[in-house]
Amino acid sequence: MFSIYDEVKLKAFLLEHGHKNFRYAQIEHAIYKDLVTDFDAMTTISKELRDLLKTTCYFTSLKVKSAVTSDDGQTTKFLIETHDNKFLEAVIMRHLSGRNTLCVSCQVGCPMACSFCATGKLGLTRNLDFTEIVEQIMIAVHHLAKEDKKLRNIVYMGMGEPFLNYENVKCSIEIASGQKKLDLSSRRITVSTCGIVPGINKIAEDFPQVSLAISLHAPTDEARKWIMPVEQTYPLDKLMEALDAYVAKTNKRIFYEYIMINGLTDRPEYAKALADLLRGRLAHVNFIPYNPGEGSSDSKMLPTSKVMIKKFQDALEAAGVPSTIRHTMGDDIDAACGQLALKEQEGK
Ligand code: SAH
Repeated sequence: MFSIYDEVKLKAFLLEHGHKNFRYAQIEHAIYKDLVTDFDAMTTISKELRDLLKTTCYFTSLKVKSAVTSDDGQTTKFLIETHDNKFLEAVIMRHLSGRNTLCVSCQVGCPMACSFCATGKLGLTRNLDFTEIVEQIMIAVHHLAKEDKKLRNIVYMGMGEPFLNYENVKCSIEIASGQKKLDLSSRRITVSTCGIVPGINKIAEDFPQVSLAISLHAPTDEARKWIMPVEQTYPLDKLMEALDAYVAKTNKRIFYEYIMINGLTDRPEYAKALADLLRGRLAHVNFIPYNPGEGSSDSKMLPTSKVMIKKFQDALEAAGVPSTIRHTMGDDIDAACGQLALKEQEGK
């Protein structure tokens, strides 16, 4: 058996059974445009082929264990179980402006071990296959379709480090943005990395339109290495060098994520250091108040007050760097990275 989203295998199978290429096009249309969820709904192909496909392909390997919507109705978090009984998460965020964003996971767990992150506490279990990433996207597309809504944006900000599972992430982006597939604008797809330099170089080549977010979280090597072990492999100067090359190639503004943790990343001197680092660079900073949640790895960490975040924003403004404060959504449903899956694994 193989996934219906695996174009290469499906085409080979059809060919083997004497079907012409347009047969694939009909199936592709049924999946991504008509949004069918089973073979019987594929009325453009013969019953005989439908029956044959039923014995060969599957639509889902993932099981939605729970879909919890926040009290304000804006966020829906899916806890999902894989065929080998691993847990992952995907989150729909419905913005008031009408745009609907999905946050997808690309790994079960994560090897990067950032100190503030619940997924980091899990360690890496395995990479997700591209079909498992696409399945998450289809879960959201079908869920939103029931509300007469469309998926508009995808962010690779769920569990895992996208640039350590590059090929599968790449395939899933191709399916999300392919014209004959989901046809989402590449600009509305954002990949977020903790700073894996080879991945930054590759994405600039492969997807110059896709948006890039960098989890910076601290403006100096000294400060960054306390919270992000990736700093040892890719220190700040190497990271910034890669990002400058990325901007030169794509001419795209980079989104820098900066987590605000009381007493740790929000020291007054860091406001100036951050402004100095990004001055003159094509950048936009997103301040994310630390989400303590239950599953986070260091329960002693606390979020920064809004007043302090404003000081950082003022320093950036003076340096000509735009910034926003990430409106935290879904606090009541543990929507920060890995919090739900961590609870599931630990049996809470
Ligand atoms: N590995 C990728 C993507 C996954 S994490 C990356 O590092 O960018 C998505 C974002 O959520 C990252 O910016 C991460 O640092 C942030 N994050 C993780 N735990 C958090 C928490 N408890 N509170 C706020 N943001 C968190």
